[in-house]
Amino acid sequence: MLLSELKTGQRALVVKILGHSAFRKRVIEMGFVRGREVKVEMAAPLKDPVKYEICGYSISLRRSEAAMIEVEPLSGETSAAEPPRAVTAQHDDCTCPVHTPADGHHIKIALIGNPNCGKTSLYNCLAHATEHVGNYGGVTVDVKKAEFRYGDYRVTLVDLPGTYSLSSYTPEELYVRRYLRDESPDVVVNVVDASNLERNLYLTTELIDMNLPVVVALNMYDELEASGARLEYRMLGQMLGTPMVPIVARTGRGVDTLMHTVESVCEGRNEDVRHIHVHLNTDVEKALRVMIDIIKADPEVSHSFSPRYLAIKMLEGDREVTDMLSHTPSYSRLREVRDHARLDLQRLRQEDLASAIAAEKYGFIAGALAETFTPGEAEARRQTFLIDRIVTNKVLGFPIFIALMFVMFWATFTLGQYPMDWIQTGVDALSGLAQSLLPQGILKDMISDGIIGGVGGVIVFLPNILILYFCISLMEDTGYMARAAFIMDRIMHRIGLHGKSFIPLLMGFGCNVPAIMATRSIESRSSRIITILINPFMSCSARLPIYVLFIGTFFYAHAALVFLGLYFLGIAAAVATAKLLRRSAFRKDETPFVMELPPYRVPTAKAMLRHTWAKGAEYLRKMGGIILFASIVVWALNYFPRPAAESATPTDSYLAMAGKAINPIMEPLGFTWRASVAALAGVPAKEIVVSTLGVLYTGDEAVDDASLGHRLTAVNPATGHPDFTPAAALSFMIFILLYCPCMATVTAIVKETGSRRWGLFSVVYNTAVAWLLAFAAYRLALLVI
Ligand code: GDP
Ligand code: MG
Repeated sequence: MLLSELKTGQRALVVKILGHSAFRKRVIEMGFVRGREVKVEMAAPLKDPVKYEICGYSISLRRSEAAMIEVEPLSGETSAAEPPRAVTAQHDDCTCPVHTPADGHHIKIALIGNPNCGKTSLYNCLAHATEHVGNYGGVTVDVKKAEFRYGDYRVTLVDLPGTYSLSSYTPEELYVRRYLRDESPDVVVNVVDASNLERNLYLTTELIDMNLPVVVALNMYDELEASGARLEYRMLGQMLGTPMVPIVARTGRGVDTLMHTVESVCEGRNEDVRHIHVHLNTDVEKALRVMIDIIKADPEVSHSFSPRYLAIKMLEGDREVTDMLSHTPSYSRLREVRDHARLDLQRLRQEDLASAIAAEKYGFIAGALAETFTPGEAEARRQTFLIDRIVTNKVLGFPIFIALMFVMFWATFTLGQYPMDWIQTGVDALSGLAQSLLPQGILKDMISDGIIGGVGGVIVFLPNILILYFCISLMEDTGYMARAAFIMDRIMHRIGLHGKSFIPLLMGFGCNVPAIMATRSIESRSSRIITILINPFMSCSARLPIYVLFIGTFFYAHAALVFLGLYFLGIAAAVATAKLLRRSAFRKDETPFVMELPPYRVPTAKAMLRHTWAKGAEYLRKMGGIILFASIVVWALNYFPRPAAESATPTDSYLAMAGKAINPIMEPLGFTWRASVAALAGVPAKEIVVSTLGVLYTGDEAVDDASLGHRLTAVNPATGHPDFTPAAALSFMIFILLYCPCMATVTAIVKETGSRRWGLFSVVYNTAVAWLLAFAAYRLALLVI
């Protein structure tokens, strides 16, 4: 029977995973191994995906994925799962490498652990304010690095992306593994979610295979205690040969002891450190022994990772490791041993090596926990289950979701309006001050029009950004975000995306820049890039003033309809682009959907505020720099060349010249040169479009905004027609909606995709789409209106 065929509430034992995809590897390492019990918890409101319980945590699978898992249904209340076997860790005779820190006073610590186990919380706790956020060039994943002093040591701490194992199936896994190879940290702190030990310790067994100096940080120990569970962690640590320290990263409890332990491991004086190996079944061990000897003989490869780890990975079919080993002189012998072992296993137990090894490791963990761990009541789990019953309910799920989204946007825009107005007042006052204090001349014009006008125009959005991020981190920290992805997945899947892509798209209506940054939580690289690239089609709030101006002037009678139409046109362009990209550049989604649904947690105020502020500061820092620069450039282009004082005829500014130069291209859309200039000026930031129109259609800065609409419809004496007709206005709005994203967004695209090519693509593609659709709309409108 297949897992997808089970009904809600039904339980079954895993038999095997079909196929050979990355999905298979992923679910195996997440605990879907032979003999494990799995239970169907509930389906999403649209029936797909489905939430399952395995190893004491919840995981969401699409039905198509669940159909790859063969199970044997259980009936009644009794659990028929295999009883845990006795621990058979073996002390390894081979001497453990003593990793004395290279210069004696510098310790390099790497934080490794499953996603959502609290690595970043621990990182923040240890690194305090000295945090330095760095991006490793060319890689999609984000790594944080900090330096601080601990006693006599200078410590470098690295927060690595979360992984379930150390294989080469996802970019994160590869990244972490390469980091371990190239940077060889002095100590690995393996952060483990103590409320979900079984699955988390799987990664620990891989670190043990690697023979690295490991300290296990048993995080979320507060949750373990609250559930009434008991863990003999000292004993468990001795069994695994790695010291274990209970901590609560959120409050900092136990973190001192953790650092103490790290220090003692570093100095080689920790008694719990012991090199063991997780004993696998006899046939596999036999093959391993032969392979290890061959690998040991070649110092080239055994230098990078421990021979045992390499041999196990080769047996599991890890491509990168196999490639690496293919250079050793006796590779053919290695291959022979592997193939032999594979055939044997197939014949004897109809099982393949990767799942057999994972099953053995999970068996080992279950055995170790049976001796050291007394489970408590599953109170927290039950609460989570109850909340999920409501929040992902068939009937209530979507209304709750929409209501929460509504509250979020209401808070962002309506509530944000007040502080926005205050800041606007401040900016205006500053501008007035500059006007009155500075002597007449170029410096004054640059400061008041260029800098205060440009940067001031962006700073006013800070409250909106802060509120939006506060809401988002609230949803993230409580665990609701994963549920939103869970219920939206079915819809997003239709355009080839993941449920997780929904949130960044929604955020795009606020501002595309933070929205693009928020795609970091999407694991699949292709999904992430597509989500980033379609994001600028979500009409951001900076485009709103343009619509307000033009709709108010030309389509007053049908305002709401035109508004909605524009937003939907943007969404349609996004959907079409996503489908196009899925059909061309990104044929296949390389990582499976499989998503963990963490238990609900009450967020701490401290973490929330820090999170929110960090985002706000990031926004100010990066965008302030770019906007400042762009504002001065646009201002200068609009300011120069200055007419000679005595000449009476006004000269065109460079911006006007550029507008006139590109006008022939824009004319088919019904644009006059002023419209082209405004569109061009909006490239650094779309806010500038309206202000540019304001400048171009007055020539006299004292004229207030209210009359701008009239001036747009006034007859241009040079041509005898008004510059904008309703058709031209429609075409202009559509062009502004879709064309080249603003500079801050392009920068974010380049930064987040790690490639200039995508930035360029976005500029060219979006402009082309905008041109075509504006052209079509203009021609159609001419016929209709
Ligand atoms: P990461 O994905 O491994 O970086 O994990 P995070 O640091 O983002 O933490 C994941 C979630 O666990 C957040 O909601 C944290 O607030 C929460 N968390 C982290 N440490 C603890 C802890 O010690 N106790 C409890 N109860 N929650 C924690
Ligand atoms: Mg993190």
